[in-house]
Amino acid sequence: MRRASLAALSVLAALLLAVGCASEPDESASDAASDPEPPHEEDETDDADGEQTGTASQDDEGEDAEGEGAEGEGAEEDPDDDAPDVDPAEVGANELGDVPILMYHRLREDGGGEYDRTPEGFRAELEWLFANDYVPVTIADLLDGALDLPAGTSPVVLTFDDSPSEHAQLDEDDEPEPDTALGILHDVAEDHDVEPVAVWSVLPNPFGGDPDEAERIMRWLHDQGHELANHTCRHEPLSGRDDDDVAEDVLCGERVITDAVPEAEVRTFTLPLGVWPDERSLAYEGTTDEGDYSHDAVLLVGANPAPSPFASDFDPRDLPRIRTGSWDGGDPDFESEFWLDVLEDDPDRRFVSDGDPDSVAFPEELADRLDADHEDRARPYARD
Ligand SMILES: [Zn+2]
Repeated sequence: MRRASLAALSVLAALLLAVGCASEPDESASDAASDPEPPHEEDETDDADGEQTGTASQDDEGEDAEGEGAEGEGAEEDPDDDAPDVDPAEVGANELGDVPILMYHRLREDGGGEYDRTPEGFRAELEWLFANDYVPVTIADLLDGALDLPAGTSPVVLTFDDSPSEHAQLDEDDEPEPDTALGILHDVAEDHDVEPVAVWSVLPNPFGGDPDEAERIMRWLHDQGHELANHTCRHEPLSGRDDDDVAEDVLCGERVITDAVPEAEVRTFTLPLGVWPDERSLAYEGTTDEGDYSHDAVLLVGANPAPSPFASDFDPRDLPRIRTGSWDGGDPDFESEFWLDVLEDDPDRRFVSDGDPDSVAFPEELADRLDADHEDRARPYARD
């Protein structure tokens, strides 16, 4: 079983607060150390073509998104039409529970550093997740509150940082190469009949450095329902830099995606090394001579499950992620095994769907967690 020993857990519990405070510098060092390729030198030339196309398409995409939102609201007027006949108490529905957002870096046969996984460890974690009723969703799904999951299942967001070559490769038939993170995800998801979607925080010349291949992979990911997230061009801490410098770096990162997939709406920004800019708003909104950007979500490094998108403490611009890594490979703090066990053991803490995407079901005693914006969808129920 993946459950850690009781001794390890009690040590962890004692360490949680202290390590939480110290985790960001650790992550900076490790993240930088495990970086596949320094991205920034080539990307200026790579970004030069297609900038205007990207900007124009961003605007178009914004209008499309508004249109879809309006349709969604219309559908909500008839929530009972296709609501499944599920007793929320029977499936233990709790749509105000937390959602784990897992953070992956490199896949290394030797286990790599403390943020890395072996391919076997990664596969085993996916097997465990899908066997234990987790279903992958994207950050965009959380933002839209569009969690259309089978009754009794829970959302999990799989995020992959820094786009090293082993994250995603496609063969000549556009199939994921089986030894990549993408290939492993698709393989395990097919076995468990879940949709293989994830969030890929890409750097310039992602997935091995060949620009044509990178474009083919990003396009494929987008078309298959994966989410591409901005991770800047330089992949350096955003603190201690002047505002223009930060904004240009963030816009450059967005164009890594929109140059390859002009219609992609880049909604998620992943803080490089988990470090905020001095002016925090520049992580989600900025203006430069080259254009503007705006993101709906900001992903952090560390350290706990994220609140439900229907909970009052859900802040999409401040989303924590759970670190993953080999249990034996580094300090046993904030590892996914620990947090997945916490969610497993505490039904009030884990998000569990009632199977009806139009309602927000929860045990009535948890009602004070509900965000006022979702009161009209609330489906409180009595337990026992
Ligand atoms: Zn990174």
